[in-house]
Amino acid sequence: MRLLLVASLLVAALTGCTSRNLDLTVPWIVYADEAPVFDQPSLDAEPVGHLVQGDRIAGPVTVDPDTNVEWLAFERDGRTLHAPRMHLTRPHPRNLARPGDLPIGEEIVDRWWGIPLDYEPSDLVPVPERFASGRGEHTLRREACEALVAMFEAAEAEGLHLRVSSSYRSGPRQVEIYTRNIARNPAQRSSAPPGHSEHQLGTTVDLRSRDGGGGQGFARTPESAWLERNGARFGWVRSYYPHTVPQTGYISEPWHWRYHGPERAPALAAQRQAGAPPVTIEPEVPSELPLLPDPLYLDRDSAPDQPRGPGRRR
Ligand SMILES: [Zn+2]
Repeated sequence: MRLLLVASLLVAALTGCTSRNLDLTVPWIVYADEAPVFDQPSLDAEPVGHLVQGDRIAGPVTVDPDTNVEWLAFERDGRTLHAPRMHLTRPHPRNLARPGDLPIGEEIVDRWWGIPLDYEPSDLVPVPERFASGRGEHTLRREACEALVAMFEAAEAEGLHLRVSSSYRSGPRQVEIYTRNIARNPAQRSSAPPGHSEHQLGTTVDLRSRDGGGGQGFARTPESAWLERNGARFGWVRSYYPHTVPQTGYISEPWHWRYHGPERAPALAAQRQAGAPPVTIEPEVPSELPLLPDPLYLDRDSAPDQPRGPGRRR
């Protein structure tokens, strides 16, 4: 993957940009109370102004190769300004197209496309306590929860004990977690921006082994190996592998699993495990402006076994 990255960066250097397939016609929305803007993409510079919550801007997103911080360039009053992407969110038009709960497996949530911060599925149910780890109640959408229970029971039958350590999280809760994480490290790749967390779908869990394996250590447990072999037949797929960092923009997370349904999951799991790039779904909006590349990511914070506190969840 390192070679691939070097090759990609070389291509980026030759073409003068670090981006692919990003639609400029769909605006990003400021979710933070206030978002500083700069006349150059540098957090060390003095801000030249602020955007406020609800402001909409559009333009290409790039990643600063030195700091790994993401920037959106936009035009305002005849000037090109730069806003750190950390204060922005962008719902995918297809996620907005229908009222009510998003159809499971058809939700489009990644670093580039998201859901409104007030989206909350109506069919959240509690995860049975015997499968939960830590304090507080865990909830998932009913279908995802039933599939999770079936999967955990199948694992138990083989003497393996999986536990849920995180599940549905609301948009406002993700704002709290993400704000704390970017204050520590504006370039971090372990916590999703608000509206872009798979946890807000109610179909995603963080898992651990009952007998101790959590975080990066989960990858070394028999429970993790079992999931890699069997998760897809229950509809569950691991979202982030070491080899998917350049496409997803997130570190490897053996614990983070999303329910896509038993029909879609096997093909998706095979694709992810093989390292094939994820399928990109373009928005269904008129697109007269040129499509620009997604940013490329550096793999600098995907080192195995990095310590994780509760705030470092996606
Ligand atoms: Zn997670």
